[in-house]
Amino acid sequence: MGDCIFCKIIAGEIPSKKIYEDDKVLAFYDISPAAPVHFLVIPKEHISSANELTKENSEIVSHIFMIINKIVKELGIADSGYRIVNNCGADGGQTVNHIHFHILGARELKWPPG
Ligand code: 5GP
Ligand code: ZN
Repeated sequence: MGDCIFCKIIAGEIPSKKIYEDDKVLAFYDISPAAPVHFLVIPKEHISSANELTKENSEIVSHIFMIINKIVKELGIADSGYRIVNNCGADGGQTVNHIHFHILGARELKWPPG
């Protein structure tokens, strides 16, 4: 989708450290990690944000959560715990307008976020 950096990562035009890929989703490490484990899971379909989820396209969210479930086990943080974050819009701190879920773990995370 135009200038979307995550669409470019999906297309292989921007390199990424991939963890998992199938026909619907891509998981890769965040370029600027905020925790010892910090990866992103994105749908291959360009959906701008959580605001753009519909009855027709939202099945991808449960698929993403199942992939997260699998990856955290493989990375060994399932039992210690982790946080799944979706930033939406300006106040939510969203900087890339392609819906993505952050998974942060391998350290104790504070609450509430800033
Ligand atoms: P947001 O602030 O939109 O919730 O999160 C966007 C995330 O994407 C940030 O954590 C940022 O570090 C990450 N990011 C931005 N550009 C790239 C990139 O080119 N490659 C990777 N792997 N991560 C990126
Ligand atoms: Zn995109």
